[in-house]
Amino acid sequence: MTLLGDAAHLRAPNGEGANLAMQDGAELGRALAAHPEDVEAALAEHERSMFVRAAAVEADDDGFYSIMIDDDAPHSLLALMAGAAQDS
Ligand SMILES: Cc1cc2nc3c(=O)[nH]c(=O)nc-3n(C[C@H](O)[C@H](O)[C@H](O)COP(=O)(O)OP(=O)(O)OC[C@H]3O[C@@H](n4cnc5c(N)ncnc54)[C@H](O)[C@@H]3O)c2cc1C
Repeated sequence: MTLLGDAAHLRAPNGEGANLAMQDGAELGRALAAHPEDVEAALAEHERSMFVRAAAVEADDDGFYSIMIDDDAPHSLLALMAGAAQDS
């Protein structure tokens, strides 16, 4: 058994969760194809690379958690969303 996507690494809403989940699926498929006779080896390879990807995104999460729970929340989150909407 293994996990992928949000079940393995739930993140703050920084716009990377769906990307990570899709990449996890693709990398899991690649690992299974590379080790057709050894599912355990495939899962171990998948998990090793997934943890590295998820940790890199987690490093960017601190600012989002602050915005969501700081003294000015939820206004700080709304301001972020409004700013993002104006940028697009
Ligand atoms: C408001 C919001 C905005 C977001 N915006 C973005 C964005 O802009 N960009 C981005 O990249 N990510 C965004 N995300 C994050 C993104 O949606 C998730 O990271 C992504 O959907 C995770 O995919 P997943 O397949 O791991 O999980 P999910 O998409 O949650 O899929 C899990 C599925 O399993 C099903 N399920 C649960 N329990 C069972 C069960 N017991 N039996 C059978 N099925 C079950 C659920 O119904 C669901 O369909 C956002 C999330 C939220 C909440």
